[in-house]
Amino acid sequence: MPSVRRLPEGLVNQIAAGEVVERPASVVKELCENSIDAGARLVQVDVQEGGTRLVQVADDGCGMSPEDAVLCLERHATSKLRDVDGLTAIATLGFRGEALPAIASVSGFTLTTRERGAVGATRVRSRGTGPREVESAGAPEGTRIEVADLFFNTPARRKFLRRPGTEGSHCTEVVSRLLLSHPEVGFVLNADGRRLLSSPPDAPLPERLALVLGREVFERLVELDSTQGEIELRGFVGSPDQSASTAQKITLFVNGRAIRDRALAHAVSRAYANLLPPGRYPVGAIFVTVPLDRVDVNVHPQKLEVRFADARGVYEALTRAVAEALRPAPWLGRVREGRSEWAGGEAGLPTPMAGPPPPRAGGEPAEPPLPRAVGEGQGRGAAPSSPTLSEAIAPTGWFSSLRVLGQLARSYLVCEGRDGALVVLDQHAAHERVLFERFRRGYAQRSVASQRLLLPAIVELGAAQSQALAGRSAELRAFGFEAEPFGGASWSVAAVPALLGRATPATLFRDFADGLAQFGSADATEDAWNDVLATMACHAAVRANDPLGTDELEALLRELDEIDFKVRCPHGRPVVTEIPIAELERRVERR
Ligand code: ADP
Ligand code: MG
Repeated sequence: MPSVRRLPEGLVNQIAAGEVVERPASVVKELCENSIDAGARLVQVDVQEGGTRLVQVADDGCGMSPEDAVLCLERHATSKLRDVDGLTAIATLGFRGEALPAIASVSGFTLTTRERGAVGATRVRSRGTGPREVESAGAPEGTRIEVADLFFNTPARRKFLRRPGTEGSHCTEVVSRLLLSHPEVGFVLNADGRRLLSSPPDAPLPERLALVLGREVFERLVELDSTQGEIELRGFVGSPDQSASTAQKITLFVNGRAIRDRALAHAVSRAYANLLPPGRYPVGAIFVTVPLDRVDVNVHPQKLEVRFADARGVYEALTRAVAEALRPAPWLGRVREGRSEWAGGEAGLPTPMAGPPPPRAGGEPAEPPLPRAVGEGQGRGAAPSSPTLSEAIAPTGWFSSLRVLGQLARSYLVCEGRDGALVVLDQHAAHERVLFERFRRGYAQRSVASQRLLLPAIVELGAAQSQALAGRSAELRAFGFEAEPFGGASWSVAAVPALLGRATPATLFRDFADGLAQFGSADATEDAWNDVLATMACHAAVRANDPLGTDELEALLRELDEIDFKVRCPHGRPVVTEIPIAELERRVERR
């Protein structure tokens, strides 16, 4: 039997490095977080060869005394945590005292630091687990750390590094996230001597978002700002046409810490309901603030995950906040003149974006929260139908403000928009969305109107479908159907949802039975049910090639103003596209 032995400190640090330091970007993250914790106003990051050759982070923070400069390289040495009580309310980014010794144990490490007000600086140098050299040096106040040849002594680790380009873009992402979560701090990122990012201290969040997401995405962002109980949610999400092909483009911050959380990301996607086509993901940045003692940040070595005391509450609050922000579709009809909307915003968050008023049908009862997107919450953000909105507001929305020019190719609705923009709507997609939303809303309010058929329709179903319907007359009625078994797998259908009267009764009834057979009760799986409702709406919507008169076209526009989520059909295809007059002028070479 081999005897039990205590591992040497250097090896312990290298083992810790395995968890804390995955790649150069992890070094960038740990060093920058230390700079932020040190109260820096400016942080400059330089990487060479994607950080595989060098990561250097310099700050103007509080610096360290000569003693601390040596001590901070000891394992579990930290200035940020004193006792176990501190662990339940961590306000700094670091607290484990693990990063510096771990990083130093797998690199050529140089720390130069000068405490504020001190006459000189201290330099500590080491290579891997080798001896440390300490000397005094001349340097400005603050701290500079150079990490060279990461993983030089752990070849297995080094082998896993990707091309410098890939590693470099991970570094850029880390700095991007930090500059979003810490608008008070200025950041500069240089890669191989080239300036990639630069953001002065106190630059407003919108400026920083424009930098990180690109101007074009930024122009169409939708702001959210909601307090629900003790959870605060602020930030910006993209309009549905600004979606991304990966789920990574929505950055979530919890108490100022960028985290990865699939469930939270899903909570955001859910709020987009059927606004995004399959395989597309939302973009944006959302800052969630919860009381420090309601979240445990000590669950992941790189602090990329957190655990909430009330995870469900946070997920639901997030979905609700995003759904609320998207509800009035504020990206429609927005003036696209640079950044004028941000003018007047103070440092920090800008004033809310202007958009058409939330659409409400005249005299219609207040609408309950979307069944799929929200829970029973009572928070401020959970009040989409606040009493003021359900007074009778005339539908003065964006769609009704369009001037109908006519129908194109018997499939498109062509209109003149504000400022002479050419606005084109897909008539099928638009009508489908109207029906879908109204049907969904009707069901949520248990007020789907039925339309009696002159003669009952006899509909032959599959055995499974027929079986699924058996004993479900209450559910059938809730969706506007009246039907009873007619021998074998046949049903006699006496009434169908009035709203969907354009579809043949048999088609609608089969859609519904298919849904029940596949997904069971309508309440159990709302996501799935939305697909069922969407299919039914699709079958009932006007098709391409249906001729429509001006009256019908105008009615369709008014109806679009009365529903939410109006820019995509329930299957995620865009309903409307806008060609600004400037674009037309460019084509005829007036500009
Ligand atoms: P942690 O951040 O969890 O405390 P680290 O190993 O990252 O652990 O850092 C150890 C300690 O070194 C910190 O607690 C802090 O006191 C000091 N330190 C690290 N970086 C800096 C810096 N840039 N400026 C001032 N002090 C720093
Ligand atoms: Mg740290």
